[in-house]
Amino acid sequence: MATEKALGLVVRGTDYSETSRIATLWTREWGKIHVLAKGARRPKSNFESALDLLSLCSIVLIRKTSGGLDLLTEARVEQRFAGLRRDLSALYAGYYIAELLSDLTEDHDPHPGLFDASVAILERLGLPGGTTPGWLMAWESRLLRELGYAPLWTECAGCREPLAAAATMTYSAAAGGMICGRCRVTPRGQVRIMEATWMALRKWMAWEAIEPIQEAMNVMREMRGVFNETITYLLGRRPRLMAYLGSES
Ligand SMILES: [Zn+2]
Repeated sequence: MATEKALGLVVRGTDYSETSRIATLWTREWGKIHVLAKGARRPKSNFESALDLLSLCSIVLIRKTSGGLDLLTEARVEQRFAGLRRDLSALYAGYYIAELLSDLTEDHDPHPGLFDASVAILERLGLPGGTTPGWLMAWESRLLRELGYAPLWTECAGCREPLAAAATMTYSAAAGGMICGRCRVTPRGQVRIMEATWMALRKWMAWEAIEPIQEAMNVMREMRGVFNETITYLLGRRPRLMAYLGSES
């Protein structure tokens, strides 16, 4: 049978039967896939510990055409993101990234740009030269943009009138962006933010580099609130790891 190769990040795994494991991988080539690794729980399997959460591995598999699980035949670890084990906030951020890649993306919908950015940010989390909240929001900005969920910033997401800056402004996750004073219809998922935060969010969403932009701590805190509301709305529930994400800059 024909085999295919890919590079994938393990975003979920569960034991299956006495000896096997089922894993969800977020691959560069095909987006999210679900694989069966037969014998993965045996002491000397072909997979060793390659299917641990947040391992980046080269995989070989036999693809199923009828909607079942793909059959994994090989998995070799390429990268384990050592920084995640040095800092608890980085580890939680890594788990949060895995949760969203697993639950907010569609099967077989590849986004190589988001894949590369995810790997680059997982490599930097927990290492000197950046802070976890900044790296995480840089990743979330990329996630929303790549998946087509980028909020509207310069016009009202309700009536589409151009927005003018004001001392405090309203963001609505349900409306999909900023809303004007006339459009504050559903209070659910609304966040009041400063003009400085509005300016920062516009900049971050258009930012092409991986490195986060430096912002004042109160701006970072408000940005965290906007991301929390947006992700919760899109997912239809609060991410399990959200409570562990700090807002310190
Ligand atoms: Zn409006």
